[in-house]
Parts: sequence; structure tokens; C-alpha cells
Amino acid sequence: MITHDIVIVGGGLTGLMAAVEASPGADVAVVSKVYPTRSHSGAAQGGFNAAMGDDDTVENHVFDTVKGSDYIGDQDAIEILCSEGPEVIRDLETMGVPWSRTGDGRVAQRSLGGAGYPRACYAADFAGHVVLHTLYEQSVKAGIRIYPEWYLVDLLIENGSVAGLLVYQLASGRTEVIRCKVVIMATGGYGRVYQKTTNGHANTGDGMAIAYRAGAVLADMEFVQFHPTTLYGTNILISEAARGEGGYLRNVHGERFMAGYAPQKMELAPRDVVSRSIFQEIKEGRGVEGSYVHLDLTHLGAEKISERLPQVQDLARRYAAVEPSAAPIPIEPAQHYSMGGIRTNLNCETNIGGLLAAGEAANVSVHGANRLGGNSLLETVVFGRRAGRRAAYLAGSAGLAPPPKDSLDAAMERWLANFGQSRPEVEGDSVFVIRRELNRTMTEKVGVFRTGEELKEAREELAGLRRRYSALRVPVKEAPFNYQLTEHLEVGYLLDLSEITAAAALRRTESRGAHFRLDFPGRDDRNWLNHTLIKKGEKGPVFGTGSVSITRYPPQERGY
Ligand SMILES: Cc1cc2nc3c(=O)[nH]c(=O)nc-3n(C[C@H](O)[C@H](O)[C@H](O)COP(=O)(O)OP(=O)(O)OC[C@H]3O[C@@H](n4cnc5c(N)ncnc54)[C@H](O)[C@@H]3O)c2cc1C
Repeated sequence: MITHDIVIVGGGLTGLMAAVEASPGADVAVVSKVYPTRSHSGAAQGGFNAAMGDDDTVENHVFDTVKGSDYIGDQDAIEILCSEGPEVIRDLETMGVPWSRTGDGRVAQRSLGGAGYPRACYAADFAGHVVLHTLYEQSVKAGIRIYPEWYLVDLLIENGSVAGLLVYQLASGRTEVIRCKVVIMATGGYGRVYQKTTNGHANTGDGMAIAYRAGAVLADMEFVQFHPTTLYGTNILISEAARGEGGYLRNVHGERFMAGYAPQKMELAPRDVVSRSIFQEIKEGRGVEGSYVHLDLTHLGAEKISERLPQVQDLARRYAAVEPSAAPIPIEPAQHYSMGGIRTNLNCETNIGGLLAAGEAANVSVHGANRLGGNSLLETVVFGRRAGRRAAYLAGSAGLAPPPKDSLDAAMERWLANFGQSRPEVEGDSVFVIRRELNRTMTEKVGVFRTGEELKEAREELAGLRRRYSALRVPVKEAPFNYQLTEHLEVGYLLDLSEITAAAALRRTESRGAHFRLDFPGRDDRNWLNHTLIKKGEKGPVFGTGSVSITRYPPQERGY
């Protein structure tokens, strides 16, 4: 058995920030199913919010975030997020992040949606990439042990606390047990439950599903963000920075249609509002070719586009054959971010002893029902750092638990149950087919606009897919690069998370933030100003509610 004090699962911004913070006093390891610098964090373009401008204040940032969350974000957590922001940005600078600069040498900031001030610190439109590489350098420098292309497959819990994990190496096909005192789940979101998504292939929500199966509480899984501007057809993200730098949205008549939906903020209204407006335009016959709208950057001019938005320019050229200084870019909304996740307290602790979670995998609830652009990257570093700090403290004050025994036997039994001969219910069935059907159901029936009827249909379809999945096995056990195995495991996680999302969406009979019910179009604070809490029961998810922390800003109507 391998032994470490702290094992961090996930090599994205959250995981590496936690590792760098925890490493001085503890033996820290990072397990990551993709090479750390290939984590989805590296694709982030827009920037990290922090109230550092002359006229901006932490209070403004807190208020914008609370309002953006449609009043269901926890205000104590939001205060931490916003007040620690400027310090973390400066720490990252000290580590070597090359932020873009103003003429007088300060960190430059741009406007993103739902913000009252230019607040997002950026590095052209490669913010995630540069910070991820800087943190990776710091991890190597600190001598942190990295297990790249190793998969977490199970958590070993003895007497209600973490005793270790069961992991699997892609290149060799072998399993290993790692004993440790603390595990931090930094495994990112589960966007891959949707067919149309900006998320990377690795974003299958493994950590959320594995923690849930081990008894952790999930929260607010009905709140899924759809980003307004992804390339039509491929759903490659066109960063909000494009609108932050002054881009317009136009319908088939060339009108800036946001004037009809959010007359003050226009294109920079929050994402839930803009995505619904785009669908409304298309539904009412004002879409281009009936199916998309235009993002127009032509008035910005070639020079500004190549200086501030080089990645957007490159993506438009390569994947849409459009020169953005000369013609508008065809765009449509697609899944982008998971507001829900593993429920934690302000120190990133879950309800299981020694299990911490942070970043997109977690729900400390800084985003509530709708995340603002630039706040997720900020969350990864602020709460990644807090998780690392807490883990170091916990590891320093506890001894290593005895080697796991019963939990390991049970985990091995679950592991071996994946292998054998399939007895498919439908001829030619496979996890690949099930994944496609699951993606379609989620996109068509648990998307931007929801109804009770469609959500019930989704639940039934998912139950059918679950039955079919349970008849399938992986034929080969120990093989290098066994992608049939990884697909099998991931489809299992996607099924759990889809069922939970659909059921939570059906249960919440109101519209709030990104969760919009056509049959319940109003926000209902009397009954629904609370978090959805989800635990695994004998026959599926069991739902409960948790209170929202309201410290300064009582709920108001949310207009833009
Ligand atoms: C295209 C795109 C652009 C974005 N732009 C912005 C932006 O400009 N501003 C902003 O605030 N937010 C943005 N976001 C959101 C933000 O980037 C993410 O929420 C954030 O980076 C998530 O970081 P993370 O560290 O929590 O997870 P990730 O970066 O997703 O990392 C997850 C890690 O978990 C590991 N992992 C997962 N499962 C397992 C397993 N079973 N075993 C081992 N390891 C596992 C993976 O290998 C990976 O290293 C963007 C998101 C996308 C998709």
C-alpha cells in the first residue's frame, strides 16, 4: 500500500492550488485522470474576478454575486470568496502569473456579465491556461507527488472517516490502494451529461458520484448553467470576454435583441438571462436560419480583436470559418457549468470525516442558482487554498488510521462487479449507445426551459437506461489503456448525476436563476428559498432542504 498524508483528487486549478498550499508541512499527492495541465481549467478564457479597481469594492462584488445567484448563494461563503479575491490574485502574481497590464503597469481588468465594474483579471483570453501552468510549476518545485492518468475508483471509509482510496492506473490497468488521512475532491463538474456542452471529455462528475455513493451529501444539482455563446454546431466556447470587450448579440434582422430583455445590462446581463433570451428569439422566429443568433465583433476592429481576444479569433477562424473582424459569429447556448456539487462548510469539509471538496466539484454555495462569469476561476483558487490549509491542519492533528479492511473488501467487490460477460437487454447495446441516449434526454428534457411533464419523461427514460446499463460488463480486466472500462465507469457516474439532476429539477416547483420551469415561471421565496440536499438512499436519491445563509442582503426582485 502507498501512503500519503493528503491525497488530492484532481489536477485542475482547485487541486493544484490546494496541493501548493498544503505541501510545506505535509506529504501531499495529486491523483489526476488526465495530465494536470490538460484539466478543463486550462480552457478557461475570460478571467478571475477580484475587486481591485479604483471605484470597485468587495461589497459591490458580494452584492453582484448574491444578486447573480438569485439570492440562494450563501452570503457568508460569498463574503469569503470576494474578500480573499485580491490577495489571491497578488499571490498568483508572485508565483509568476503574467496578468495582462494597464498602461500604468497595474493588473488589467475587464467587464464580464452581471458585474457592476470591470472586475475580471485576465491574461489575453488564456487566463485558465497561464494560471494552471504556473501552479503546475509550483507543484513540481514543491516536490508534490503527482499520479497522472490514475483514476480514483472508490473511497475507503472506516468508522465514518476517510482511510484511503482505491485507484487505477490507465497505462498498466492495475489497481492500488493509497492510505491517507485526508482526501480533497477537486474533480470538477459533470457537464458531459449533456450533448451540447462546452466541457472537456473528462468532465463526467466522477468525484461527485463517488462521494455520493460513499454517503456524502450533494446540493443544488438542479442548477446547471448554460452559456449563451458557444459556436453553433460544435459548442466550443466563445468567451464572455467577447461581450466584455464590447461584442453585440444580433437576431436575423440585425437587431440587438437584448434591449427587449435586459435594457440596462444588455449583452452583459447574467448568463441565465441571456441564454433564455436567445432561445426566445429563436422560438419566435427571429433566429438566423431558424436555429442560432449572431455574435457581432466587427465594430471592435481587427487590432483590438487580435490583441484582447486572440483565442476567440482563432476559434472562430478554425471552427466556424469566420473572420470575426469582418463577419458575425454564429452562436447558440450550451451547458457550461455545474452549480451543484458536494456540499461543504466554509472550510471545505463534507459530512464525512477527512473528506474535503472544493472547486466545481463542490457546493459551498457561492454561485447559488446562477454563477457569474469570472467567479468560478476565483472560487477554484480561493477555496482550493482554503481546502489545502484545512487539510494540512487536519493531517497535522491526526494519526494515520489503521489499514482499511472491511471498506477495502467491499470496494474490491464493487470493482470486480464491473467485469464479466454482458447480457444486453437490447441487441447491440453498449455503454457508448447508452451515453448518447442519456446525453440526448438531458439536453432535450432537462435543458434551459423545463416542464414537469418533460422532467417526468426524462426520469423514465433514465430509469430505462439504468436497467440496460446494469446488464453490461467490461470483458477484459487488467489491460493497458482499457477505454472500455473508463467509459463503463464514467457512464455509471453520468447516470447517477443525471437521475439526481432531473429529480431535483422536478422537485423544485419554481423558477430561479438557471432553473426555469415553464409551468412555474415565478420565483417562490416562501417555499423555495432553500438549498436542495441529496443523499443516497436504498432506492435512489433522497431529498431534503437546507437553509440559505443570508447575512446582509435580503432577497429582492432581480432585474437587469
Ligand atoms: C471552456 C470553459 C471556459 C471557462 N471560462 C471561465 C472563465 O473565464 N472564468 C471563470 O470563472 N470560469 C470559467 N470556466 C469555469 C472554470 O474553468 C471551471 O469551473 C474550473 O476551472 C474548474 O476547476 P476545477 O479545478 O474545479 O476542475 P477541473 O479543471 O475540471 O479539473 C478536474 C480535475 O479532476 C480530475 N479528475 C476527474 N475525475 C477524476 C477521477 N475519477 N480520478 C482522478 N482524477 C479525476 C481531472 O483529471 C482534472 O484534473 C470555464 C469553463 C469552461 C468549460
